[in-house]
Amino acid sequence: MHDPVPTVTLPGGVTVPALGLGTWQMGEVKARAGEEIDSLRLGLDLGMTLIDTAEMYGEGGAERVVGIALEDRRDDVFLVSKVYPWNASRSGTIAACENSLRRLKTDRLDLYLLHWRGEHPLADTVAAFEELKAAGKIGAWGVSNFDVADMEELFAVPGGANCAANQVLYNLGQRGIEYDLLPWCRAHGVAVMAYSPIEQGRLAHHPELIHIAKAYQATPAQIALAFLLRREGVIAIPKSANLRRVSENRDAVDLRVTENDWAALDAVFSPPERKMPLAMI
Ligand code: NDP
Repeated sequence: MHDPVPTVTLPGGVTVPALGLGTWQMGEVKARAGEEIDSLRLGLDLGMTLIDTAEMYGEGGAERVVGIALEDRRDDVFLVSKVYPWNASRSGTIAACENSLRRLKTDRLDLYLLHWRGEHPLADTVAAFEELKAAGKIGAWGVSNFDVADMEELFAVPGGANCAANQVLYNLGQRGIEYDLLPWCRAHGVAVMAYSPIEQGRLAHHPELIHIAKAYQATPAQIALAFLLRREGVIAIPKSANLRRVSENRDAVDLRVTENDWAALDAVFSPPERKMPLAMI
């Protein structure tokens, strides 16, 4: 028997799973599309019903793969995509969204993010996001790779406080946001999406994690995901195109690590003691 996937409630009241599915590096090689689609569909079957994609991934290829995986189950999924910064003008954001919808074979995104900050004024991007929301093409919008100063600037723009989520690099080895950005987002009702939760697979080979995982008959990747799952308001989006690893990631929900072991991990992966610039990939 599995524990249900925990949830996070977004500012508008929509509840989403705290463990979803990433898609970076999907849709790049045709021969791999079959296993990518199967992995996404397995993840959905196991309750990881949030998919994170972007127009950037495979230059539209990842969105096409997601579109196929979702053909008969769009309504069961919370679908997230992102606009390139250089497309994020008032009209460019709308056009980019429509292109994403076409590739994803759907009429709406649940969440649309500005992938990182670029040249276009935030006010223009926000105005476009609000227009898309009013037209029913997106359910909510947010940002990615925004540090505290960026969030403050965003919130000062008309409509900027409607931001539902900030997607940032966050994992056991990259804990800088715990100092200021995570508390800021919590205080302002902005959900945090943790990208690269297994540090792009590297945490699966960390000796200390291997050591602790053994005691739980778990894997290092599961400990890395459990670290995020115990944090309120945080959504982890591991990517895997491998059926066994998708199940393994789902099973991280069942893991109960003792406070003593978390303290031991804090000694290895120390929480920040001062402001660190937001790390990004
Ligand atoms: P992850 O930390 O999710 O790691 C993915 C890598 O780890 C893949 O190589 C995968 O290989 C491997 N992996 C997955 N599960 C396991 C496991 N249980 N044990 C060992 N290895 C495993 O990195 P990502 O950078 O992909 O981040 C996740 C998602 O976040 C992305 O896919 C994307 O959707 C989003 N993202 C957003 C960014 C942004 O700027 N907003 C930047 C980076 C990512 P395999 O597929 O073979 O299993």
